[in-house]
Amino acid sequence: MKTGNIGVTTENIFPIIKKFLYSDHEIFLRELVSNAVDATQKLKTYAMKGDFKGELGDLTVHVSLDKEAGTITISDRGIGMTAEEIDKYINQIAFSGANDFLEKYKNDANAIIGHFGLGFYSAFMVAKSVDIVTRSYRDEAQAVKWSCDGSPEFTLEEVEKADRGTDIILHIDDDCKEFLEESRLSALLTKYCRFLPISIAFGKKKDWKDGKQVETDEDNIINDTTPLWTRTPSELTDEDYKKFYRDLYPMSDEPLFWIHLNVDYPFNLTGVLYFPKIKSNIDLQKNKIQLYCNQVYVTDSVEGIVPDFLTLLHGVIDSPDIPLNVSRSYLQSDSNVKKISTYITKKVADRLNGIFKDNRKEFEEKWNDLKLFINYGMLTEESFYDKAKQFALFTDTEGKHFTYEEYKELIKGEQTDKEGNLIYLYATDRDEQYTYIEAAQQKGYNVLLFDGQLDTAMLNLYEQKMEKSRFSRVDADIIDNLIVKEDKQRVELPAEEKEMLTAAFKSQMPEVKKTEFHVDAQPLGNSSAPIIITQSEYMRRMKEMAAINAGMSFYGDMPDMYTLILNTDHPLIQSVLTAEKEQTADSLRPINEETATLKAREEALEASHKSMKDEEIPSAEKDELSDLHTKIHEQSHKREAIFADFAKDNNVLHQLIDLALLQNGMLKGEALSRFIKRSVEMIG
Ligand code: ADP
Repeated sequence: MKTGNIGVTTENIFPIIKKFLYSDHEIFLRELVSNAVDATQKLKTYAMKGDFKGELGDLTVHVSLDKEAGTITISDRGIGMTAEEIDKYINQIAFSGANDFLEKYKNDANAIIGHFGLGFYSAFMVAKSVDIVTRSYRDEAQAVKWSCDGSPEFTLEEVEKADRGTDIILHIDDDCKEFLEESRLSALLTKYCRFLPISIAFGKKKDWKDGKQVETDEDNIINDTTPLWTRTPSELTDEDYKKFYRDLYPMSDEPLFWIHLNVDYPFNLTGVLYFPKIKSNIDLQKNKIQLYCNQVYVTDSVEGIVPDFLTLLHGVIDSPDIPLNVSRSYLQSDSNVKKISTYITKKVADRLNGIFKDNRKEFEEKWNDLKLFINYGMLTEESFYDKAKQFALFTDTEGKHFTYEEYKELIKGEQTDKEGNLIYLYATDRDEQYTYIEAAQQKGYNVLLFDGQLDTAMLNLYEQKMEKSRFSRVDADIIDNLIVKEDKQRVELPAEEKEMLTAAFKSQMPEVKKTEFHVDAQPLGNSSAPIIITQSEYMRRMKEMAAINAGMSFYGDMPDMYTLILNTDHPLIQSVLTAEKEQTADSLRPINEETATLKAREEALEASHKSMKDEEIPSAEKDELSDLHTKIHEQSHKREAIFADFAKDNNVLHQLIDLALLQNGMLKGEALSRFIKRSVEMIG
């Protein structure tokens, strides 16, 4: 028997392995089973090249559990090792600079294991001692047993071993007893070894017999050695892809589409990505893309490897060219990873474009499910926007779909304003904005429906990307102002009458919390409604942004601002004006006379001051002027009181206000109940 020290240069590595990798210690199984698989594949390669002439026989790797002895054994019939090879591959491990590296990557087990080639030594994360019993495939090789109890000291002795290959025997540590549970071990094998390329057996298959589970003679093979992504797409049916999806995500709905990835230059990558049916935000978090390296499961966190929006996809990516022995932050700057990310983005866009071109109907049917994903990609990846703009769709309020280009053609004729801007009209709620949509349609305009989660964000993007284009919600202004075609020909009311009318209506607006109404009067033509309520596009967008952006709370605190536009061409508005003129004439006369006198004096004073410097104006005149201002103001208040007094009892006026509010869902509580009472009275 020989004893010796493992070539650790700095210090005892085992406590470090345990301490730093504690949270990830389950990966020991992945490391040891994939070593066994590697050794087996090497033997197969030798056999193929003629370097190994013996019988390959059954190459299944066996994982077995002996609960009583407290051991887990991983046995393979691969190339095995000679005593010299053990010395070379197991005993000599270089840990120079180990401490610095460990400190830096202490939370990243993959990086540590990759960096040190620690695969085998990860066994010490769970085992107090480890035996290797191995015999090389070479003729007449002597079997040896290497043992180590977690100190740098090991023993190596010659033993009898009938078959070639390696048994790794782990004597599980007392604080790692969980790994001696069959169910735990079985779950880990499924997680890490499910698609390894050599059969892995864990115990025997079980059968139900007389209401009990009994073991059969047959090995319980836990893996699929040729998973779908390693096979040729032409051999696979849709059902194969769907089945594989169900295997990966048993609880999910059927996927919409899939893409089979396969590149070998300038990097190696295979995989299958699925477009899932996204039902809710919770689903987005649950199922993830799984990352494999030569069929060995590595992780299901692909952040940094694929662009963010692609993490919404499901499926498998397998690449030996993704450097996993580096930190996440480094990963993103790695040139291979960048290429991989670009490649996948392009593939996804091409596939979508292909489906769109070949089967537009199907694409449109699935658009609702795809929209969030595609919009997210367009918002976050410039290169994806450039491709997706060919097949991304607009949907109008009638449910018709258009590509951006098609839509532009559709509205170009009718919806270009006099400055040559293309005006896109949209609604966010088909029912709430029904009247406005209808008004726009009557003008021959088309209205888009933007009711998706990302539509507001998309809108800003469109305005940046599309030249001479503006987006306006249908209720942002009266339709003639949304798309201004030529300078207005209509006759406006004289200022005095406009004042009468707007003051009367304004005085009767109900108090609505955090809401302000501005009243305006404009000739909108006699086919338009008597009153239209609009909400400024700019303010609404600012408020919407403030709602999701803490830094903009200034806008969030502002009241909602609406404009009530009285249509002076409408007979009902005209009748109110006529009644108002009649009923207020007597009380207005003295006030108007008084105001006229005050104003005349004001004007005279101001005219005489025009050519004077401020210090030349006599202070008595300054005082008089300021006194005049106050008095004119008082008169205007008196006038407002007279208009309000008239408005108070005018049923038509109240009815018109209430109908406009009702149409916008703003007539509530007491105001609503008054409206109903008044309506009943008016019918009678
Ligand atoms: P890596 O696999 O990254 O090289 P490991 O520490 O896992 O690092 O293994 C070190 C070496 O030990 C391997 O490269 C291989 O030569 C040898 N080895 C490990 N396990 C086996 C095995 N089951 N059969 C044959 N050789 C093995």
